[in-house]
Amino acid sequence: MKRILFPGSFDPITLGHLNIIERALGFCDEIIIAVGTNSYKKSMFSVAQRLEWLRAIFKDNPNIEITTYTGLTTTFCKEKNCPFILRGLRNPADFEFEKAIAHTNRTIANIETIFLLTSVETSFISSSIVRDVITNKGNIKKLVPKEVYSTL
Ligand code: ADP
Repeated sequence: MKRILFPGSFDPITLGHLNIIERALGFCDEIIIAVGTNSYKKSMFSVAQRLEWLRAIFKDNPNIEITTYTGLTTTFCKEKNCPFILRGLRNPADFEFEKAIAHTNRTIANIETIFLLTSVETSFISSSIVRDVITNKGNIKKLVPKEVYSTL
């Protein structure tokens, strides 16, 4: 049973996240999507709203668990008996940032991080740009799942 944790802010979930999750289902039996709640990271949407969207999107997939956590991601991995973390890479900046975290997580907790390169079609999408478009009343239909845009 290959279980992997996909941690993130998902503020909001985008088609980029969705692509990573769908592809990971090809080699994992179970994905735990976990909304990290860092008090220092300012969010646009409440954790409850972000969880609601994730639950709606994956309601028909019994191999996906949606949850939330605080504290170290590796501590949560241990709690969930999950030896792998899933992360997406869009560009060199993502890689530089993720590299140190992945090394740290393997050093302190023996948790491996599996990276998937973003698909060409979704490589430019980020939650922060989506938030900007929302704030300025732009159209996000091509950037997020319909469960998100249909409720905004
Ligand atoms: P965090 O605050 O943990 O970075 P995000 O919700 O921004 O949370 O991202 C969660 C994960 O999804 C990260 O690994 C990020 O690189 C990845 N991700 C975000 N957008 C995309 C995208 N367009 N394509 C592939 N991966 C993405």
